[in-house]
Amino acid sequence: MSKKIVVLGGGESGVGAAILAKKMGFDIFLSDSGNIRPEMEKLLAEYNIPYEHGLHTRSLIENADEVIKSPGIPDNAPIIADIANKGIKIISEIEFAGRYDSAKKICITGSNGKTTTTSLIYYLLKNAGLNVGLAGNIGKSYAYQVATMNYDYYVLELSSFQLDGVYDFKADIAILMNITPDHLDRYGYNMQNYINSKFRITRNMNRDDCFVFCADDPITINELEKIVLKAKMLPFSQEKEVNEGACLKNDMMYVNYNESEYTMYIKELALEGKHNIYNSMAAAIAAKALNISNEVIRKSLMDFQGVEHRMEKVLKVREVLYVNDSKATNVNSTWYALESIKTPIVWIAGGKDKGNDYEPLYGLVKDKVHTLICLGIDNGKLHDCFKDKVENLVDTTSAKEAVELAYKYAKPGDTVLLSPACASFDLFKNYEDRGRQFKAAVREL
Ligand code: ADP
Repeated sequence: MSKKIVVLGGGESGVGAAILAKKMGFDIFLSDSGNIRPEMEKLLAEYNIPYEHGLHTRSLIENADEVIKSPGIPDNAPIIADIANKGIKIISEIEFAGRYDSAKKICITGSNGKTTTTSLIYYLLKNAGLNVGLAGNIGKSYAYQVATMNYDYYVLELSSFQLDGVYDFKADIAILMNITPDHLDRYGYNMQNYINSKFRITRNMNRDDCFVFCADDPITINELEKIVLKAKMLPFSQEKEVNEGACLKNDMMYVNYNESEYTMYIKELALEGKHNIYNSMAAAIAAKALNISNEVIRKSLMDFQGVEHRMEKVLKVREVLYVNDSKATNVNSTWYALESIKTPIVWIAGGKDKGNDYEPLYGLVKDKVHTLICLGIDNGKLHDCFKDKVENLVDTTSAKEAVELAYKYAKPGDTVLLSPACASFDLFKNYEDRGRQFKAAVREL
C-alpha cells in the first residue's frame, strides 16, 4: 500500500504539494477548513486529487502517514495538536518538495528584504544564462515547480512559517538578511522561538555550503556566538570591514569570495537606500559564490527594476514624488523607508497594528515628516505616539482620500510616502490591494 499523505490548506503551497505527492504516486488527500479558491479547485480536479473544504474530517486526516501543513496554519490550531499527539510527522511544503529536487538551492530568509533580495538574485542568475526557478513565498509554489519543471537552480524565498516545518531540507547557499521582531503572535511572544525558526535555514549545511548573513544585525550575531555552523561564513556589513563577504569602503561596495573580488560604486546600484545596499550586497555575494562573472553582476545590479510595493516610485505630480511602500508592514521596514528619503515627507501610515513599538521612528519622523496621514480604522496609537512630532495629523479610511489629503499638504520637492508599518487587513484585502489603490489614486490626481 502506498504511503498516505494529507495536505492541510488548499492555497498555493498546499495545492502544489498535493500535485507533487500525486505525481510521486502517494495516496493523497487535501483538507482546508476554509474556502478553496476556484482556480485551485480546478487544479485539484485536473490532477484528480480528492479534497474537502469548509471542514476537517478527522477520520480522513488522522490516518495519514505524514501531514504537509501550509504555512498559514498556526501550530496551535486544534487540528495540528491532535495530529501531533497521534505521532504523525508534520512537515512543510518546502521540506516535502526538497526531497525530490536535486537543483542547487539559494534560500533567502529574514524579517525584511526577502522578496527584494530573492528577486534580485533570480534576476542575476537569469542574466547569467542559468536554468533557474523562482519559488517559495513568491510566485508559483516550490512543490508545483518541482512537479512540473526541471530547473538546475532554485532561488527560494522562505518565511519563518515555511522554515518551521523543515528537517532534512538543505540550502546550498543560505541567506539571512536580518532578524527584528515580527509575527511574535505565532511564536508564543518569545523572540528566541522566532530566532530559532529563522536559523532553521542553516540546517544540514556542510563545508561546501555558504551562509550569508548581516554582520550589523545584533540578533544574528548574538545567535551565531551560541551555535556552530559548518558552512562557509560570508558576512555583509556597512559598518565594518570583512575579509570574505561584502562591505563598504568609502563610497564603494566591496565583495570578496575565494580571493576573487568585485567592486562597485554605491551610486551605481539600481536600488536606492541603505536597506537596499544590504540587499545588493547579499545578492552580489551569492552571485560570486556561484561563479557568475563580475560583468553580469554589475549589469544586473545596475538594471534591476525593483519589486512592486517596495519603495516603488509611482509618479511625480506638481514636483511631488509619490512612493508606494505598501509592503512595509512592520516598524523596521518603515524605518528604512523613512531613512532612505532625503526630502521632507508626507507620510501615510497605519492599519492593523501587530503590537508595534514606534519609538525607533521618532527621530526620523521629527526630522523629516511634516504631515502624518493615518490610514486605518483605529489610529489611536499613531496619534499618541506622533501628535507632538508632526505639524499636521489627519485621519482617513480610504486610500483615495489619503492621496487627496497628501496632495493638499505636500509642497513642491516633498515626497509622499505610503509606508504603513502595519498590516492592511482592517481596510484592504492585503498589502497589494492597498498599494494598488494608492497608485490608482495617485494616477487620478
Ligand atoms: P520581505 O519579503 O522580507 O517582506 P521585501 O523585500 O518585500 O521584504 O521588503 C519589504 C519592505 O521592507 C520594503 O518595502 C522596505 O521598506 C523594507 N526593506 C527591504 N529590504 C530591507 C532590509 N534589508 N532591511 C530592512 N528593511 C528592508
